[in-house]
Amino acid sequence: MAAVLGCSDSRVPVELLFDTGLGDLFVARNAGNVALAGMVGTLEYAVAVLHVPLIVVLGHERCGAVAAALRPQNLNLLPPSLAQLVGQIHLDLLAAGIEGDLDRACRHNAISAAQHLAGTSVLLNKRLLSGQLRIEAARYDLDDSCLDWLGSVAPRSGVGTAR
Ligand SMILES: [Zn+2]
Repeated sequence: MAAVLGCSDSRVPVELLFDTGLGDLFVARNAGNVALAGMVGTLEYAVAVLHVPLIVVLGHERCGAVAAALRPQNLNLLPPSLAQLVGQIHLDLLAAGIEGDLDRACRHNAISAAQHLAGTSVLLNKRLLSGQLRIEAARYDLDDSCLDWLGSVAPRSGVGTAR
């Protein structure tokens, strides 16, 4: 019924949160729910092959990957692949002018990843344009187990030659 790009954090078990069973959700997770190339391709598979009509980018409260991105002075201490992932979050936060507010950063990170999907994938953007796909960002609250829906992604113009 949907694909989810979520964080690998063990406190955010996607199928349990949505009370779904086997075969209901196509779930892709990494630290910080970052839309790196492999994740974009994974979600393209869900849409192209499984005809999933909805992608939810599910961020969460007190995300460790986002917290790390707020401490860019430590980026060079991380192994290269992890530094790339955290560095992507850091660049998105920097572009939004977010420096110290972790909850604001977590919300922005989910929205940014959702927008990144439309901004980098020709396939996903085409499905948004045709109305066959919706991409939503959400934030899971670890304390009260509630979801905040953060908004839908609009199709992008000019996505066709991008990455
Ligand atoms: Zn997280």
